[in-house]
Amino acid sequence: MPRPIQATIDIQALRHNLSQIKAAAPDALVWGVVKANAYGHGIERIFEGLRAADGIALLDLAEAERVRQLGWRGPILLLEGVFETRDLELCSRLNLWHVVHCEAQIDMLAVHKTHQPHRVFLKMNTGMNRLGFAPQAFRAAWTRLNALPQVDEISLMSHFSDADGDKGIAAAMALFHQHTHDLSGERSLCNSAATLRHAKDLAVRADWVRPGIALYGSSPDFPLHSAHDWGLKPVMSLNAGIIGVQHLQAGDAVGYGSSFVADRPMRIGVVACGYADGYPRSAATGTPVCVDGQASRTVGRVSMDMITVDITDVPHADLGSEVTLWGLPQKTMPKVHASVGVPIDAVAQAAGTVGYELMCALAARVPVVVKD
Ligand SMILES: *Cc1c(COP(=O)(O)O)cnc(C)c1O
Repeated sequence: MPRPIQATIDIQALRHNLSQIKAAAPDALVWGVVKANAYGHGIERIFEGLRAADGIALLDLAEAERVRQLGWRGPILLLEGVFETRDLELCSRLNLWHVVHCEAQIDMLAVHKTHQPHRVFLKMNTGMNRLGFAPQAFRAAWTRLNALPQVDEISLMSHFSDADGDKGIAAAMALFHQHTHDLSGERSLCNSAATLRHAKDLAVRADWVRPGIALYGSSPDFPLHSAHDWGLKPVMSLNAGIIGVQHLQAGDAVGYGSSFVADRPMRIGVVACGYADGYPRSAATGTPVCVDGQASRTVGRVSMDMITVDITDVPHADLGSEVTLWGLPQKTMPKVHASVGVPIDAVAQAAGTVGYELMCALAARVPVVVKD
C-alpha cells in the first residue's frame, strides 16, 4: 500500500469559484491565471475547470505550449512578456499575447520578423515597483509601440500592490487614469483581491480581470475575510492517514527538540504527512487540522515525513483515521457542517505565510486525484 496521503483537486469547486469571480466583476472578461503550474494544482489537472474563462494567463513559455497542447484556442497572455527576442517567435507561432513592461521588450519587438502583428499589454508601474513603465514614461512607450508594424492592438494594464489591504488602490488608480485616460485600448487591473474588493467600480473592473488565488479557493485578504466569506470553495484538499498512535503522560514530550510537552494524559496521532510533502515546517503547535471530520490541532514539530496531532478528544480516531491538513475531508463526512474542513489560509497563517505558498509547494511525491 502506498503511504496514506493524497491531494484531491476538485474541478467543480474551481468552476464555482470562477462563477463567483464573474459575479463580482459582471461583464468583465476573465483571465484565468495558471502560472506556477496553476498554483501547484497542475495545469492539465485543472484545465477543464477553466473552460468558462475568457483567456489563460501565465508566465512561462513552456506552460503556454502546454495550454495550446490541451486544445485551448482562446487568448493566452504572458504576464511578464518575453525574456529574449527568440521568445517572440513562439508568440507568433502560438498566437500568444504578451505584456510589454520595459524598453528592452519594445526593442525586441522592433527587430522581430512576423507576418502577424502581436496583441500586447503595455504595463504601467503604479507603485508596486517591480515591472512596468513609470507613469511619466508610459505615453512615450505607447507611441513607440503604436508605430511598430509588429504590434496589433495595445491594451493597458497595471498591477496593484495593495488591493488586499488598508492602503488600497486609490493612488494607483489616480496615476493610471491620469496617464491613460485619452489612450485607446482595453484595460486590465485587478488581481483576485481587487476583483473581490474593488471591482464594483467600473473603472477598476475595466475590461479584463486577472484572478489567480481566488480561483483556487483561498481568500486574497485573509484574515479580514475568509474564503467562506467570499463564497469560495477549496480546490485543493490535502488528507493523510494516521499511521501510529501514542499515549502520553503529563510531562511526556513529542517530536524533535521536545518542543511540545503534555500537561495531562494525551493521545497523539502520527500522520503520514511532513514537510517533504509540502506541509510547512514552520507550522507551530496549534495549527488546525481535522481528524475524521472533527477539528483538532497539531502538536510538536513538523518533521520530514510526519506530523503529530492531538486526538485526545477524538475518541474514535485510530490507525487509518483520515486527517485533513487543508481543504475538505474526502472519506469522512464532517460532523459539524459550519466548520467543514481546514481553510488553507488558517494553516498558512499558523506557518507565517499565505495560502499561495502552500499550494505552490505541494510536493511531487504526493499522489493527486482529480474529482469532477
Ligand atoms: C499572479 C498575478 C495575478 C493573480 O494574482 P492573485 O493574487 O493570485 O489573484 C494577476 N496579475 C498578475 C500580473 C500576476 O502576476
